[in-house]
Amino acid sequence: MSSNPTQKCGVVAVIGPPNAGKSTLVNQLVGQKVAITSAKAQTTRARMLGIALHDETQMILVDTPGIFSPRRKLDRAMVSAAWDGASAADAVVLLVDPIKQRRHELIPLVEALEKRPERKILVLNKVDKAKKEPLLALAQELGETIDFAEVFFVSALTGDGVPEMKTALAGMMPEGPWHYPEDQVSDASERLLATEITREQLYAQLHEELPYDTAVRPESYTQREDGSVEIRQQIVVARDSQKPIVLGKGGQRIKAIGEAARAELSELLGQKVHLFLHVKVSEGWAEDKEVFEEIGLDW
Ligand code: GDP
Ligand code: MG
Repeated sequence: MSSNPTQKCGVVAVIGPPNAGKSTLVNQLVGQKVAITSAKAQTTRARMLGIALHDETQMILVDTPGIFSPRRKLDRAMVSAAWDGASAADAVVLLVDPIKQRRHELIPLVEALEKRPERKILVLNKVDKAKKEPLLALAQELGETIDFAEVFFVSALTGDGVPEMKTALAGMMPEGPWHYPEDQVSDASERLLATEITREQLYAQLHEELPYDTAVRPESYTQREDGSVEIRQQIVVARDSQKPIVLGKGGQRIKAIGEAARAELSELLGQKVHLFLHVKVSEGWAEDKEVFEEIGLDW
């Protein structure tokens, strides 16, 4: 990291209801996958930083979990991680899915955001699917409540409109030295990223069957002498009855999950990966401090 006087560096918090496309947008801004995405709400559990570059500007993107009404301990920690991400930000992006909207989650968020001092940017996502009129109506409605510095219409999925938005965001960042080396794309350790990739496969392959109370815990991460890496992980479910769902008939399901995760990890890490998964039943894991900290949440 040089002390180049023209460098700029700042924090962008990306907030929005679950499923708005926050993780997809962060990946698009970074230019590679740093956060897992899913059609199922609340995939992002912990706060994760993505690091994007635009000319001399480094933007630290905080991909926050969706903010919703917290019920249990796990939910509460997710919400507080979300607001932590928004404090001290140089810009807050409110990302909205104009099709689903999720107004019961969007409106409280808008009300809370109204009182905050940060510069706010409204981003309406999924323009590849949304119809124009409701999109404009929603932008106008939200603009009447909050004084947004800018409004953008993008598709986080296809990248449409994202470069313009990225340029505008970069323009809002303060002068200062970069916080991370040029080649760093996220703050997650490879060990944690590896558990996220497995969790993404669990969502992708089990869909609605997957119990909400499922976690992936890192057990070991060992570089082998032959240049490959051996990764052991535990898939934790809350009840005995959930174990066969994850295993599948004759263990076929967990095998397919492991194979897909292994292939993706190997691609991301650029080395051969040996991935060992096993399922453990642990009734109270969602109330367990150790598990919380492992998956990057504050107790
Ligand atoms: P998050 O919960 O806000 O982080 O949302 P994700 O990034 O996980 O995305 C939720 C779902 O919306 C996933 O199925 C994404 O593929 C999808 N999605 C995100 N952005 C777009 C978009 O611009 N267009 C379309 N059609 N789908 C999108
Ligand atoms: Mg997400």
